[in-house]
Amino acid sequence: MTTETGKEQFTFQAEISRLLHLLSESLYQNKEITIRELVSNASDALDKLRHASLTNSDIDASDLSITLAPDKDENVLIIRDNGVGMTRDELVQNIGTIAHSGSLEFIQKLQQSDNKDDVSLIGQFGVGFYSSFMLSERVEVRTRSYTEQKGWIWESTGDGSFTIAEPEAPLQRGTEIVLHLKKDLGEFADATRLKYILRKYSTFVPHPIKVEDEHINDQPPIWVEPKSTVTEEQYQNFYEYLTHFPGQQPLWHLHLTADSPFQFHSILYCPDSNLERMGFGRSEHGLHLCAKRILVQNDNRDLLPDYLRFLRGIVDSADLPLNVSREALQDNTVFRKMKKVLTKKVLDHLDSTAGEDAAAYGKFYREFGSVLREGIGEDFDNKDRLAKLLRFSSSNSTAEDGLASLAGYCERKPEDQTQIYFATGTDSAAVLRDPNMEVFRDRGLEVLILTDPVDEYVLNNLQAFDDCDIVSIDSADLKLPGAAEENEDGEETEDKPATKEDDPAGFDKVLTLIREALGDQVEDVRRSERLTESACCLVNSAGAQSTTMQKVLQTNVPDFEMSKMILELNPSASLIARLCELSVNSDNDAFVKTCGQQLYSNAMIMAGLAPNGSEMADRVQGFMMELAKDRSSIST
Ligand code: ADP
Repeated sequence: MTTETGKEQFTFQAEISRLLHLLSESLYQNKEITIRELVSNASDALDKLRHASLTNSDIDASDLSITLAPDKDENVLIIRDNGVGMTRDELVQNIGTIAHSGSLEFIQKLQQSDNKDDVSLIGQFGVGFYSSFMLSERVEVRTRSYTEQKGWIWESTGDGSFTIAEPEAPLQRGTEIVLHLKKDLGEFADATRLKYILRKYSTFVPHPIKVEDEHINDQPPIWVEPKSTVTEEQYQNFYEYLTHFPGQQPLWHLHLTADSPFQFHSILYCPDSNLERMGFGRSEHGLHLCAKRILVQNDNRDLLPDYLRFLRGIVDSADLPLNVSREALQDNTVFRKMKKVLTKKVLDHLDSTAGEDAAAYGKFYREFGSVLREGIGEDFDNKDRLAKLLRFSSSNSTAEDGLASLAGYCERKPEDQTQIYFATGTDSAAVLRDPNMEVFRDRGLEVLILTDPVDEYVLNNLQAFDDCDIVSIDSADLKLPGAAEENEDGEETEDKPATKEDDPAGFDKVLTLIREALGDQVEDVRRSERLTESACCLVNSAGAQSTTMQKVLQTNVPDFEMSKMILELNPSASLIARLCELSVNSDNDAFVKTCGQQLYSNAMIMAGLAPNGSEMADRVQGFMMELAKDRSSIST
């Protein structure tokens, strides 16, 4: 071992002494971060050497590596790199004085704070090296700058002063940090424990890290490589590494690189299936967040909006601080901008896939559409972009291979159609049976079919697309194309296939009688413009949510009251026409009213609502009795 000569003593800057004092007494549990800090410093030193070698061909930048040499017997851990090393002046400057702005504030805060976890922020403030005193009684830094021949030995017990001496024999290029571990921290001289720590925090360090000649981080940092040099197999391997899903292929990946306004590399993967949809609960994974290849957070869930939470991958940026708390990161300007850029890139990608390969987009949407659509309510800035990415089933089953987009709908609709129609129900078959659908079917108007209440929530949130209001087919707001035309004076004139003039005599009386019979159970009883075959249906008054949505709310929201509905009657249905005939004689009023009540019950059942069962049973038995009497002539 090289002995040293001419020891020179230095006093630490007062703030550093204070910091060292705090660290030596720190109760902070996660002492592993020291290894991460020192490996990160070593990796930086290797980066710097590689950089210097670019302009100086005398520098040999081959075989750069980091070695951890634990010695259990001596209770010593050496972390060695063959990077730039430090000159004497650099030693004094870099590990004796505090150069970074913010470090002093950090130390002050650490001093005042009762929160022992604040130590975890140490790397952010350019004082990570000093965390070595959390582990050690004494620290030696044996270093030789690539610009010098001999090197220097720095040494301190962390008690206010350090010494610098010249070694007797020249040192290797680079730096050795020799940690003389505290007695109870022998675990850091244990190779197995060190390998575990390195795999946890430093797998992605872009230089080989070795322990006992074992290469710990043999996963190349493919995200910092140019896209053109990364093979599909490498992308696949990295995906498996990230997700622990051996053999599973992602649906797609995005490899992103930017240099300004901030620098980052990222690979994002979209899994091939949505575990949430498969009932595994909400996805709790995030992105690996690295700063210069050093892992800062394992599962960062704030780099992407919630509605992209299914993506897996890595984001690596030199512009992000290492070791910051989640809150501090979220407040970081670069972090927030990065989130915007990542979101934009993902949406760009989805946009172009949707445009270029509808089948691939369809596959993606069937898996992840239920998560993506949440963005309509969450991300105001991207609402319009997200609206274009939504897909729905449609009554026009041939449209866009069964996944209709709002833009496609608008292209297909008649020019004078000013609304986008949707229908809701538990399944497509039920929706198609809904009497409210009749007019759309008869007139060939496309209706989006929503079988998941969240879709209605999303569309309600969106309200309009491309200047077309989005309305439920059971809404009283419905405007059908060609329903009204303007005359020369610009006033609207009624011009419908079946006009009021065609209504049977007595229809107004029937409406009045049934209105009386139902009282305040309904908002109104009126002539239907939408039914062509069925006798009646229920619609929701202007502005109210669809029946399906109200039912969902009723089940989930205590005290939720369904809004009163409008009963619509179809004057051309034969049953209604017969009631009109009967209504001419007021002796039939009571019968017409009872029929009205039953029509209301029927309409409720058709809409999936529950009428008053015992009243209905009594009424139906009454009708049966009448029929049974009629049959007395054909008696037994
Ligand atoms: P930071 O790394 O955030 O700057 P540190 O306290 O960890 O803060 O390190 C202080 C400085 O010491 C570094 O900026 C670097 O100049 C120098 N340094 C630390 N470790 C090494 C090393 N292994 N090789 C060369 N220089 C180093």
